[in-house]
Amino acid sequence: SRAAKRSTKEWQQADAAHFLHPFTDFAALAKKGSRIITDANNIYLHDSDGNKILDAMSGLWCVNVGYGQKALVDAAARQMQELPFYNAFFQTATPPSIELAELLAEVTPPQFQHVFFTSSGSEGNDTIVRMVRRYWDVLGQPERQVIIGRHNGYHGSTMAGASLGGMSGMHAQGGLPIPNITHIEQPHWFELGGDQSREDFGLTAARWLEEKILAVGPERVAAFIGEPIQGAGGVIVPPTTYWPEIQRICDKYGILLVSDEVICGFGRTGEWFGCETVGSRPDLMTFAKGVTSGYIPLGGVMVGERIAKVLIEQGGEFNHGFTYSGHPVACAVALANIGLIRQLNLVSHVKHNVGPYLAQQFAELAEHPLVGETQTCGLMGAVQLVKDKAKRQMFDSALEVGMVCRGHCFGNGLIMRAVGDRMIIAPPLVITRPQVDEMMALIRRCLDLTL
Ligand code: PLP
Repeated sequence: SRAAKRSTKEWQQADAAHFLHPFTDFAALAKKGSRIITDANNIYLHDSDGNKILDAMSGLWCVNVGYGQKALVDAAARQMQELPFYNAFFQTATPPSIELAELLAEVTPPQFQHVFFTSSGSEGNDTIVRMVRRYWDVLGQPERQVIIGRHNGYHGSTMAGASLGGMSGMHAQGGLPIPNITHIEQPHWFELGGDQSREDFGLTAARWLEEKILAVGPERVAAFIGEPIQGAGGVIVPPTTYWPEIQRICDKYGILLVSDEVICGFGRTGEWFGCETVGSRPDLMTFAKGVTSGYIPLGGVMVGERIAKVLIEQGGEFNHGFTYSGHPVACAVALANIGLIRQLNLVSHVKHNVGPYLAQQFAELAEHPLVGETQTCGLMGAVQLVKDKAKRQMFDSALEVGMVCRGHCFGNGLIMRAVGDRMIIAPPLVITRPQVDEMMALIRRCLDLTL
């Protein structure tokens, strides 16, 4: 194999010499050396030192069908042989892209009959910005420019994606956010709920949207965007009252609702899409990651009929798109991936089997002295680390504590992620109950070592 060509040290040296990694302190990594992942099967990775690691993050929340699925590999190989590329510009299309568009219309909620393809979630959210503004333009309301996102939301790393997101570290670099994007606070009960019940706080947090709409002027607001469950922000599962109230407010002011389903889509929450789990009816949905289980880059935007009708019947040319919009190999892999999700009944497996089982295991974990609360939804989970449980007191250096815990995970053959002082998981949807037990034992060991 390629991995065997060099020693770990040699891989690390070449890596440090030439490869600038995303979201990385380059100098710190060069000193430490990357962990070289060489191959994987099911929910397990192997590194160049021969360690076996349980991947409780599905790569970057994407390898939903697990590693080593031959159906996806074969679909890619077949399509590469037959037609490796042809574009969807200039009035052409390819069979896999048409078939995938048809299939997406089938598996998404009924208001979605049209798709715009991209190669990533970030490009999908860039498309959202241009599309919603274009929609209001065509309708004769060009002053509707403002899009409202949330602090600590994540919508990607392009100029528009990072602007829609509310990551302060990203906004601090490169002149973000772009104009006419603003944010409200997140529905994070543990941090912001004070002495309100979860349900009351859900309504309070949703009403921050109404306050923002009124402050901006309803006639200037184009859309609200949110992840059904914030992923990269720390798996913040909102109170059940939150999304129905958000929906009511968007309806009241005629504002488009965008559900960023890049993480929540394709079964992660126990329904096909996160909006179905949280009870919203979006006008647009961004997807990526799980559509191909990360085997090949693909993303896109599901366009609700309210918008599609206007753009198709009155819009004329939409001056937007990418070389790889509707890439035939990516679409062929997506078709095989969705086929496999159906064949293995993975959405039901999450909803009725491993999801509830994980919820039960995480509820028990909340008794650990280092844990303030745990949250799960489907196969997403968060462990809130605390210094003082009774007082809900966080650590002074949250990130440091999270990183210590993460270090123990890494050392013990588990990948989970630290977001400040929240430890998060999103394992492949193919995980079994005995594998959940194995993962929980590793998580407990890491917490004990962090104590
Ligand atoms: N939206 C959400 C909710 C995400 O979690 C991500 C990536 O993690 C993105 C958008 C950006 O997707 P990509 O990294 O494919 O551009």
